[in-house]
Amino acid sequence: MNNRVWIFDTTLRDGEQSPGCSMNVPEKLRMAAKLVELGVDILEAGFPIASQGDFEAVDAVSREFPWAQVAALARCTKLDVERAATALNKARRPRIHTFIATSDIHLKYKLKKSREQVLEDACRAVELARSYVDDVEFSAEDGARTDPDYLEQISRAVVAAGARTVNIPDTVGYSTPEEYQELIGRIVNALGDTAVVSVHCHDDLGLAVANSLAALKAGARQIECTVNGIGERAGNCSLEEIVMILKTRHDKYPWDTGIHTEHLYGASQLLSSIISFGPQPNKAIVGRNAFAHEAGIHQDGYLKERTTYEIIDPKSVGVPEGKLVLGKHSGRHALHARLVDLGFDLTKEQLDIVYKEITTLADNKKGLMDEEIAELARRSQQAVALT
Ligand code: MN
Repeated sequence: MNNRVWIFDTTLRDGEQSPGCSMNVPEKLRMAAKLVELGVDILEAGFPIASQGDFEAVDAVSREFPWAQVAALARCTKLDVERAATALNKARRPRIHTFIATSDIHLKYKLKKSREQVLEDACRAVELARSYVDDVEFSAEDGARTDPDYLEQISRAVVAAGARTVNIPDTVGYSTPEEYQELIGRIVNALGDTAVVSVHCHDDLGLAVANSLAALKAGARQIECTVNGIGERAGNCSLEEIVMILKTRHDKYPWDTGIHTEHLYGASQLLSSIISFGPQPNKAIVGRNAFAHEAGIHQDGYLKERTTYEIIDPKSVGVPEGKLVLGKHSGRHALHARLVDLGFDLTKEQLDIVYKEITTLADNKKGLMDEEIAELARRSQQAVALT
């Protein structure tokens, strides 16, 4: 079985559509640059029919990063697919990602359509999408709560219609690892090597990452995820967590991604600086406390040998050396290095503003937290943008 796992990033689509996370086009471009640097395989940049901003974001990302594999979301309708195709016009590796709900509860209450109608809509949309681009992904929304027989039937039908990736989302975060592994295994067996099976898990029960991992065991080879795990409600599978599980526990999960992990912390920090919140302090991999040791016994062990209490080298995910305290005695060089670690690329003018504020502020402090430095950097960017 193929060992390569495709990382499909939906920070700019599913993530962006959740409360407190909206991004304008320049912000999406800044985040997209970081995602390209991080090495995500597919970058879902928006849902073009949903708004003019989403359309422009997909268009702008396609122009700015012509070699990135850019995806645009579309419902299974003619207008949606055409709008996505137009937005992707400048992309050299465009993907149309078309979706329709397949669970009985969604068919009955939301779509008011029969299974036959939904299957027909799905195949027509995939065929239309294939008339514009070679790379088409189909998603069976609420797949985890869909009758497995019907899910298998529609999966085979969309592949016959031209889909190359079939995504089975746990849209409402209801599934459990064992149950999801069985369902994904069934679809993988049904499709064989005719399509890549993808998963898209939500974290309503805190199982998005565990379910994604279970799906990989069953043969799924694309994971849809977001930086800091942002997304609808409780969020999506966290990109940094799934990637670092595969890297740290390669003995148990022998699959590879193309992610340059040393950019994970910078991507997390940049996203936090763009949207209205950052990860919780105890968030795995990228939280402020993820590599902090406070208890005496832990500190003692850590100082004698780092691996007594650390399973991941912070440098491998781009977390700056904690020992370097930035305060009033720090120079511009150290400040610049820290800002780069935090995901900022400031102009000389902006750096001067931050430097001046830090030296003033640090007079009364023992050292500045990364968040405080990031906040000053954001303010300097806004200040220069306003002038
Ligand atoms: Mn979703």
